[in-house]
Amino acid sequence: MKPLLLDVPVTDWKLPAGQAYREKQIRDWVLKRFVSSYEEMTDLSAPLRADLSSRFRLRAAEPAKIQGSEDTTRKFLWKLGDGSFVESVLIPATMGSSGRRSTRLTLCVSSQVGCAYGCRFCASGIDGWRRHLTTAEILGQVIEAAKIAGRRPDNLVFMGMGEPLANLPNLLPALELLISPSGIGMGARHVTISTSGLAPQIEELARHPLQFRLALSLHAASDEIRDKIMPVNKRYPLDRLLKACDAFVQAKNKQIYFEYILLAGINDDPSQARLLAQHARRLHAKVNLIPYNKVEGLPYERPSETAIRQFCQTLLQNGVRATVRREKGHDIDAACGQLRLKEINFKGEASS
Ligand code: SAH
Ligand code: SF4
Repeated sequence: MKPLLLDVPVTDWKLPAGQAYREKQIRDWVLKRFVSSYEEMTDLSAPLRADLSSRFRLRAAEPAKIQGSEDTTRKFLWKLGDGSFVESVLIPATMGSSGRRSTRLTLCVSSQVGCAYGCRFCASGIDGWRRHLTTAEILGQVIEAAKIAGRRPDNLVFMGMGEPLANLPNLLPALELLISPSGIGMGARHVTISTSGLAPQIEELARHPLQFRLALSLHAASDEIRDKIMPVNKRYPLDRLLKACDAFVQAKNKQIYFEYILLAGINDDPSQARLLAQHARRLHAKVNLIPYNKVEGLPYERPSETAIRQFCQTLLQNGVRATVRREKGHDIDAACGQLRLKEINFKGEASS
């Protein structure tokens, strides 16, 4: 199979001598105008278009299925070149007061096919890990969603399927093209990477000059409980993980975010809230509480509304910024942690 153009260093594009400016033209077509074919790149010569097309594929992902939720969230199932599938979710939110209303689009993207980390509450890990997404496949989800939506998303969150920090070699070049004004141009404040807690990679990112937002999927405030629901905690226990976060916050001088799913009877006790508040204060982190989204076949339940409110209240009383995230897309299994290759098996074929 031919490689994808955006996965190949520009030196290997072998642009005609003296035509280095073609790189910008081509990148603009792909990253700013979201074209699907070389034919649409009308300022390139026909022989150059033919040459590129004979050597490199352009489209990394094609829509296999688009589902719309009643709340206008849209879930995309993408087919990749090797027949694998991944999903992204586009979530519109209305901002501002009457007269000045605008809709912001947040796109939730995947970083891997499947996930190796097996968090007990998450649908994405159920079928295991298949492979990393390439740089072009990560970008392809944004390009294709922008094409369908008619514009570039305003925010991007790496909260789809997979563990982004386990795929840093492909993620970092994608981030660069997402953020840079000469790429898609999203801006660092509008791109959030979520991790289950890979301490060495958090430290590596602390040393890396790229800017973006970091969200840590904490989900428990003590090792005893985190061990039970997130196997990754055995490898990087809280002490090690929070030290890596210290390094990140210090190096970047940026706020980080804790994601905390509320699971009834597991991690929603007031003592966990107080411990969580300690960790959050230490790192000046903001806490996003996520009432658990039901996953078929998993035994967890979301706590009562009263318990959710009380947990949030305890954090606020302990001096921590905290909000409860009300999610969208439940009716189409598009909410956090519900992304799973349900309708397909891991050979990438549609199963009935
Ligand atoms: N692997 C990364 C990013 C993808 S998961 C990570 O774990 O951070 C995106 C977010 O969805 C994480 O915070 C994850 O813990 C959360 N999540 C997983 N399953 C969920 C569920 N059933 N309900 C609510 N959130 C869930
Ligand atoms: Fe993987 Fe994140 Fe799901 Fe854990 S929560 S299984 S790391 S996708």
